[in-house]
Amino acid sequence: MSETCIVAIANQKGGVGKTTTAINLGAALAKLGHQTILVDLDPQGNASTGLGIDLEQRELNVYDLLAGDESLEECALGTDIDNLKVVPATSDLASADVQLSQVQDRIRLLRRKLTDSSQGKIVLIDCPPALGLLTLNAMVAADSVLVPLQAEFYALEGLSQLLSTVQHVRQTANPDLRINGVLLTMSDYRNNLSQQVEADARETLGELVYQTVIPRNVRVSEAPSHAQPVLVYDPASKGSLSYIKFAEEFATRARIAREVA
Ligand code: ADP
Ligand code: MG
Repeated sequence: MSETCIVAIANQKGGVGKTTTAINLGAALAKLGHQTILVDLDPQGNASTGLGIDLEQRELNVYDLLAGDESLEECALGTDIDNLKVVPATSDLASADVQLSQVQDRIRLLRRKLTDSSQGKIVLIDCPPALGLLTLNAMVAADSVLVPLQAEFYALEGLSQLLSTVQHVRQTANPDLRINGVLLTMSDYRNNLSQQVEADARETLGELVYQTVIPRNVRVSEAPSHAQPVLVYDPASKGSLSYIKFAEEFATRARIAREVA
């Protein structure tokens, strides 16, 4: 996958595994040898923290990328993982909606910065749990949207609103935007409900749903407090292995999508 690939990881629901997926897909793709940049677009900055970026290191951050003159290269910090960089977020981003409300072309701010400088790289954008200006910026900049769905009751609820936002972006600012796929997360195979949600999702969404399912695994939830992806924190854990498998499926799918496009 030497061509550019910009993916917005989005779902307006919180707690569905967006940030966990951004960190661990990013780490897994980097380990597979892809130049990967994670753009942390959530004011909570959990993806930055989870990759070990201290607050003091965030002087240049994603707000500068959006609103300033800084380039992607200038804002991207190295991590402990080869091939993986992150553009960190700070809580300043929480007021971006208001701060940027008068800026012209405010939904194209991220696209403007990514178009030239993302060549040959994979850019993963960790979106906040809302369909506001920040997520719109991600969707306008991206070539596809990856949707994590938590394998629990109500998982599919809210999906139609997300898909109609994608449709809206396609009709206005980014006609090439595709759905990359849907990733089921935090699945518990001892629980019939998880299996039911998976069956429902596959029936409703068909091939959009990735074959790989991420299991609920305590090592995944522990890893951020050690400021590491689970791939580093516990490489042999079920969570780690599932994200590696997912990264391989993701890379294959991205290639296939390009071949048929
Ligand atoms: P979002 O970014 O969509 O709000 P997160 O990725 O932050 O969601 O995940 C929400 C919570 O669930 C976090 O505490 C995270 O550590 C935990 N979590 C995510 N994926 C898993 C998993 N596969 N197994 C166990 N816990 C998980
Ligand atoms: Mg998050």
